[in-house]
Amino acid sequence: MSISLNENITYLKGVGPQKADLLASELGIKTYNDLLYYFPYRYLDRSKFYTINELNGEMSHVQIKAKVIHIETIGEKRKQRYVVTVNDGTGTTKLVWFKGIKWIKDIIKPNKEYIFFGKPTLFNQTINFTHPEIDDASKQKEKLSFNFQAFYNTSEKMKSRFLNSKAIHSLVLNLLPKVKDNITETLPSYLIKKQKLIYLNEAIYNIHLPLSQDLLQKAIFRLKFEELFYIQLKILRLKQYQKESVKGYFFKKVGQYFNSFYKNCIPFELTNAQKKVLREIRLDTNSGKQMNRLLQGDVGSGKTLVALMAMLLAIDNGFQACIMAPTEILANQHYETIRELVKPLGISVGILTGSTKQKARRLLHTDLLENKLNILIGTHALIEDAVKFAKLGMVVIDEQHRFGVAQRAKLWHKNKQPPHVLVMTATPIPRTLAMTLYGDLDVSVIDELPPGRKAIQTLHYYDSKRLRLFGFIKEQIKLGRQIYLVYPLIKESEALDYKDLEDGLESISRAFPPPEYSISVVHGKMKPIEKDKAMDLFVRKQTNIMIATTVIEVGVNVPNASVMVIESAERFGLSQLHQLRGRVGRGANQSYCILMTGNKLSLHGRKRIETMVNTNDGFEISEVDLKLRGPGDIEGTQQSGIPLDLKIANLGKDAQILSYARQIAENILDKDPKLETHENAMLRNQMEKKWKYEFNWSQIS
Ligand code: ADP
Ligand code: MG
Repeated sequence: MSISLNENITYLKGVGPQKADLLASELGIKTYNDLLYYFPYRYLDRSKFYTINELNGEMSHVQIKAKVIHIETIGEKRKQRYVVTVNDGTGTTKLVWFKGIKWIKDIIKPNKEYIFFGKPTLFNQTINFTHPEIDDASKQKEKLSFNFQAFYNTSEKMKSRFLNSKAIHSLVLNLLPKVKDNITETLPSYLIKKQKLIYLNEAIYNIHLPLSQDLLQKAIFRLKFEELFYIQLKILRLKQYQKESVKGYFFKKVGQYFNSFYKNCIPFELTNAQKKVLREIRLDTNSGKQMNRLLQGDVGSGKTLVALMAMLLAIDNGFQACIMAPTEILANQHYETIRELVKPLGISVGILTGSTKQKARRLLHTDLLENKLNILIGTHALIEDAVKFAKLGMVVIDEQHRFGVAQRAKLWHKNKQPPHVLVMTATPIPRTLAMTLYGDLDVSVIDELPPGRKAIQTLHYYDSKRLRLFGFIKEQIKLGRQIYLVYPLIKESEALDYKDLEDGLESISRAFPPPEYSISVVHGKMKPIEKDKAMDLFVRKQTNIMIATTVIEVGVNVPNASVMVIESAERFGLSQLHQLRGRVGRGANQSYCILMTGNKLSLHGRKRIETMVNTNDGFEISEVDLKLRGPGDIEGTQQSGIPLDLKIANLGKDAQILSYARQIAENILDKDPKLETHENAMLRNQMEKKWKYEFNWSQIS
C-alpha cells in the first residue's frame, strides 16, 4: 500500500485532532513528512551506565543502576518532598520528587534495584536527581531492543498535555514502519555511491531509531550533508547566474583622480593587503561583469581608504559612487574623512542622512540627477525612492552585517544596469558563515594592519577593583590620552540601562572633577545633533572621557583615545566587544581594553571574557562566537534571506561537512552549470522544489 507522506498527521495512530493541533502550532508538524523530519536533538546510549562516584553537576542526562536504601517524605502538604536515597556500591545519591508523589510511592520499593535516568545536579554539595525516570532493573533486557534512545524537543505546553519527548518518539515509532518504503530518495544515486552516503530512507530510519552507533553517525552525516549541499548549490548557482547574465559597467581606465590621489593625497604607504584588494577590485570592474565583492578586514585595517579608491575609479570613468553606513555618526565621520582627503582633487561630496533638512535634500536630489555630485555618503536614507543618480557606478556598503540582502538589492534598482557593489565588514565572519551568508559574493580579505600599531592589551577587572581602574584612567589622562567608558544598552530594558549609565556618570563625575577632567556623554536617547556635538568635543580633544552606550560601537575613529573601558562586559556579545575594543589602538600609543564584570559569571560569559583577553584576532573571536551562539543569533543574519534555521546541520560545528558539500556542489556546477544532464535531473528537481518561493529574489537584475 502506498502512503503519501503529505498525509495529515491527524491520521497517524495516537494523534487525533487535539494533538494534531498542538503539533502544528508548537512544532510546525502538520504532515507525516514533517514528523519524519523532526529530528531528535540528542541520544542516550542506553547500554551505558554511570556509577554514582562518576557523577558531577556539569553532566547532561545520565543513566545509573542503583538499589533503594532509604525512603522518606519531608515537609507538609504542598511543600512535601519525596526523597529516595540509592546506592550502587560506589556511592549514594538522592532522588527527589515534588510532584506525582502518590504515583512514585506505589512504584518504588525498598531494597530493590532500579534504573534511574535524569540530569544530575549539585545541591548543597551533594548530587541529586529531580524527577528522574525509573525502570525496573530486572526488566531491562527485554526493553533493550535498541540501544540509543532519541530525545525530542517539546514545549512546556506540550508536556502539560502529555506530548513529551517519549510521546513524540512513540508517534515516530508508529509512523516509521508504515512509510519506510515510501520515502523517496532526494540525492542522485551517483552522488550517494561516490560519496559513500547511506540512502535517505535508511538515514531517516536511523536518525530516529539508531540500530547502531555507526549507523547513527552515517545517518547524521548523510542528512547534514544533504542540507548543506542544497544550500551551497543554490548559492553557487545564484553566483553563477549573476556572473553569466548580469552585465557590469566597464571601467576602462585608471584615471587622473585615482592616480593623483595615490601619489599626492595619502600620507602613508598602502599596506600590501590594501594593494592586493585594490587589484582585485580593478580586475572586477574591468571584466564587463558586475562586481559583487565582500571586503573583510579587522577593525582598523584601513578599509575606508580602499573603498574611497574604488569610488575614485568609478569617477575616473564618468560614474558616481555612494557609500552607505549603518549609523549617522559613522556616515558623518566618513563624510568628514573623505571630504578632507579628496579636497585637492576638486571632487564634490555630499551627505544624506535622516537629519538632512528638506532644502538640502532637494538640492542633493537635483545635483545627483545632473551628475554634479560625485560621491554621496549616507545612511539608510540613501535607499529612499527619491534618491536617484544620473550614473551610479559603485556602491560601497560599510559594516554589512547591519544590512540585509534585500537592502543590497534595493540599491541595484537605482540604475538601469546594476552598479558594482563592494560590501565591507569589520565583523570578521567565520568562513563557514561567510560561505553561506555571502556565498554569492567574491571575498577579499585585508589580513594585515598598517605598520606601527601596537597590539591592544586587554585586561579583565572585577567590579571590586574599581579604584584601581580609576587610578589607571588618571595616569593615562596625565599622559594626554583619552578614554572611552561604555555601558551596555539592551533594547528590552532601555530604561534600566539608561539608569546604569546615569549612575555610572554620577560616580565618574565625582571621581573625575573639572577642570582637570572633562566628560562627553553619548547615548541612544539623545538627538543626533546632540550626539554629534558630544562626539565632536571628544574628537577635538576638548573632553578627555567619553561615556557612552554602544552607539559608538561601529567605525568611530579617534586615534588619541587609548583606553576602552567596558562596563558589565559580560552582558555584551563577543563581536560587540571586539568592535568596541577596535575603537582604541588606532594611534601610535599603547592602548588598553578593560573589561569590567561582576564576580559571578556564567559559563559562556566567562568564555567570552577569556577569549577577549587571549586574542586580538577577529576571525578567531568570530569562530568562538559562532560556536557559543549558533548562527541564528549572529547579528544581522536574520534578514539575510538564507535559511539558517537548519534542521540538522550547524554552521558553527559542521564547518568540515560544509566545505566538503560546497566543493562537491562546485564540481557539479562546473561540469553542468544549469543542471541539465540526465543524471542531475534530480538535483534540478529538488532545487525547484526547495527554493521555489525564494528564487525570485535571487534573480533580481
Ligand atoms: P577600518 O578598516 O576599521 O574601517 P579605517 O579605514 O578607519 O579602518 O582606518 C583606520 C586608520 O588607519 C585610519 O586612521 C586610516 O587613516 C589609517 N590607515 C589606513 N590605511 C593605512 C596605511 N596603509 N598605513 C597607515 N595608516 C593607515
Ligand atoms: Mg571602518
